[in-house]
Amino acid sequence: MEVGLRRREFGENGEEPMKSETDGINPAAKPSGTGCVECSARGGWWFHLRRCAACGHIGCCDSSPHQHASKHNAATGHPIITSFEPGEDWFYDYRTGETFAGPKLHAPHSHPLAQPVPGPAGAVPPNWQALLNE
Ligand SMILES: [Zn+2]
Ligand SMILES: [Zn+2]
Repeated sequence: MEVGLRRREFGENGEEPMKSETDGINPAAKPSGTGCVECSARGGWWFHLRRCAACGHIGCCDSSPHQHASKHNAATGHPIITSFEPGEDWFYDYRTGETFAGPKLHAPHSHPLAQPVPGPAGAVPPNWQALLNE
């Protein structure tokens, strides 16, 4: 079983993973935390948060200074993100550029309501709006 799983994830036999919409979604994957993994590690800040639907990686959006959700997609090939903002439930497929309604993933479905946007508390510079990407 474990061998089969490794082969599926890493393509040891050169098998191409299926390119279906649900292929990049693992409803059992838990969010990696309440903030962007990379920004949290370096004491940075973010605007909006995105969740990788395949592995639960939390990264910052493309308007954020470092765009770690898109960088995660580029680094791993994980093709689908969903919003990690309270009240938002859209999914986005990098391969098609389309937004769609996805399945219910493992809770929590957003960062805590008390967590500020942008966040995290204490790390956001006063001129943050001027630092966003278009
Ligand atoms: Zn980030
Ligand atoms: Zn991922």
